[in-house]
Amino acid sequence: MTSAIIDLLKQDQFFKKDIIRLLETHGEDRTLLFKKSAEVKEKYIGNKVWFRGLIEFSNICGKDCLYCGIRKGNKNLTRYNLSDDEILAAARFAYNNKYGSIALQSGELEGSFVAERIENLLNKIKELSHGELGITLSVGEQEPEVYKKWYDAGAHRYLLRVEATNEALYRKIHPDDSKHNFRRRLDCLKSLQDIGYQTGTGVMIGLPFQTMADLADDLLYMKEFNIDMCGMGPYIEHADTPLIEHSGTLLPLKERFDLTLKMIAILRIMMKDINIVAATALQAIDPIGREKAVKIGANILMPNITPGKYRDSYKLYDNKPCTDDSAEDCQSCLEARVSLADAVVVYGEWGDSKHYSERRNIQAGKD
Ligand code: SAH
Repeated sequence: MTSAIIDLLKQDQFFKKDIIRLLETHGEDRTLLFKKSAEVKEKYIGNKVWFRGLIEFSNICGKDCLYCGIRKGNKNLTRYNLSDDEILAAARFAYNNKYGSIALQSGELEGSFVAERIENLLNKIKELSHGELGITLSVGEQEPEVYKKWYDAGAHRYLLRVEATNEALYRKIHPDDSKHNFRRRLDCLKSLQDIGYQTGTGVMIGLPFQTMADLADDLLYMKEFNIDMCGMGPYIEHADTPLIEHSGTLLPLKERFDLTLKMIAILRIMMKDINIVAATALQAIDPIGREKAVKIGANILMPNITPGKYRDSYKLYDNKPCTDDSAEDCQSCLEARVSLADAVVVYGEWGDSKHYSERRNIQAGKD
């Protein structure tokens, strides 16, 4: 087997069958996969990690995704919405501590109130940081005009996970109504890319009904769409969600974890210069899960800087880690952890996706 994998890993274009093969590696073959992805990361990115201070500013959500703990239908949690001052204080913390960037994330709500509020916050964050803080948004599906307004106000990256690129699977994990429309999610991603954002997407790994072929297609979709950033993590059950009824059919947590590492490694080989997040959900399964991801290909970490008292209410899945910590705790903890992965945190830089600038240069050459 091993020599076949060595040959396969010499390729940097993979067919679906190759990806499935790599997802199914174990033992020495798996070690070879991780060795290769680590080499690619070292060559194209270096042993570096950039922070995005994560502000989970509201858990109020208009959607009812069947897997998600903050879904509208879950009555077993306290809803919160940080005040503008609390959000700005968190952004100031990030700025003072030389995090190059923040990420604003929340449940999904649309409408002019949300559009204007975020625009106003973007302006204020740019002002308090003298234009120095990079800003990623992750606030779901919106109209193209709204995305444009936020881009013009200074947001330059957007993370919208498609969650599953197989439409049939997507439908199984979402309610069947106009608020949960697969095509619209893809259209939103496209408009983000067209507007000029560094565009990120991702999927959950180990979902009920999901196959290896689905995961291979997810990676091929990302390559084809030409994403700049990826955030993907293991699916973890939440007791107060409808998908819990399928928990008996799931892969063991350790296997979901392992598959996530392999997805990251394969994507790093396929898309060498994109930004890949080491998702927090990895740490819910393995205490040094994010470090393992950094070692084999991820280059972005999102220390949580949401004020501590709200964290317990942003429980997307059970056993979400670090909900008792403060922003300071997260920083020192993550820094120590990153050095465990033989990487260094780069402070005071945006850490933009290199892929984005390459892609824009190529585009400019064509125009
Ligand atoms: N809904 C917002 C972001 C908030 S949720 C948006 O789409 O922009 C952030 C991410 O958490 C989701 O995209 C989803 O991939 C992930 N998530 C939700 N429930 C999860 C679960 N049970 N296990 C693992 N990840 C989950």
